[in-house]
Amino acid sequence: MIDYRSKTLDELEQLIRSWGEAAFRAKQLFKWLWKPGLSDFHDITDLPKALRERLALEGFLYRLDMAGMAASRSDNTCKWAFRLFDGKIIETVLIPGSNHTTLCVSSQAGCAMGCRFCKTGTMGFSRNLLPSEIVGQVLSVMEQTEQEIWPRNLVFMGMGEPLANFENVVSAIKILTHQLGLNFSTRRVTVSTCGLVPEIVRLGRTTSAGLAISLHATTDELRNRLMPVNKRYPLKQLMEACRKFEMPRRRRITFEYIVLGGINHSRQDAKRMARLLNGIPSKINLIPYNKVNGISFREPTNQELHSFQEHLAKKGFTAIIRKSRGKDIEAACGQLWSKINKKIVNDKKLSMAILD
Ligand code: SF4
Repeated sequence: MIDYRSKTLDELEQLIRSWGEAAFRAKQLFKWLWKPGLSDFHDITDLPKALRERLALEGFLYRLDMAGMAASRSDNTCKWAFRLFDGKIIETVLIPGSNHTTLCVSSQAGCAMGCRFCKTGTMGFSRNLLPSEIVGQVLSVMEQTEQEIWPRNLVFMGMGEPLANFENVVSAIKILTHQLGLNFSTRRVTVSTCGLVPEIVRLGRTTSAGLAISLHATTDELRNRLMPVNKRYPLKQLMEACRKFEMPRRRRITFEYIVLGGINHSRQDAKRMARLLNGIPSKINLIPYNKVNGISFREPTNQELHSFQEHLAKKGFTAIIRKSRGKDIEAACGQLWSKINKKIVNDKKLSMAILD
């Protein structure tokens, strides 16, 4: 059976042509596939009846099954858990902002990268998500929210390492940014990676999406301990890949830096960071570590956080301290696969959970 929602427009055109139909039928179909609410081919009223019947016979409209939802009482951040066709659970986080809303999507069920500060990293890897499962998170959230808060920014920072699922993530980006698809601006789509060097370079050559690097340490010694990927691609190689990353002028690479209390925020760290990022158009996000049960790091104090920010400012960087969002529902960075997932796993009958 064909998963039409995993197909880019080019792939749909090939398919529709192979059925002896005109290519413009693929455009009509593609547009409908990404209309919130479509669940039946018979509702695609501008396609001939025979084609609608063939579509229904040979394939399906993959819709994610909502398994749970939690809304933060403090900042309106919402987290959804979706159950996939094989029972795997993934999570998606909607973060309302003053001007625009950001959606943080998952690219894999679980993650093989094993970053020490990340809850998802402790659950192991299940499988790559299909393009329809990646874009389906966006569509499902749109179907369940008012149009005023539909996301304008998309970040691949949910569960999984997006560049380890390269082909499907690229197909998803093509669907998300096509004007007949979900029509996101490529400037508003960011792929975040822990540092898969060959794929970073490939991403810049294949799409115009933005790049975020999860940096989190300024020496190989510490980064090896925090992020096993660093043993494969140490900092020097990672920075070379960033220098080679092709991006439109005036774009910058975002460096995400989780500040771990007492560990990675010294004056020397700021100095080393300046050397590492030298010559790379960049911006730095400082993310105070969020306490996760079972992981032994501590949150930084305000003083630690602000003095690191000042050290970086003295080196000429604008480092923005990112407020943690959705902490009360464990939707903040590094916390996914937590409360809501455990509740769903423990209670198969649960269809919606608004958690305290
Ligand atoms: S931080 Fe990202 S890459 Fe690292 S284990 Fe967590 S989900 Fe995987």
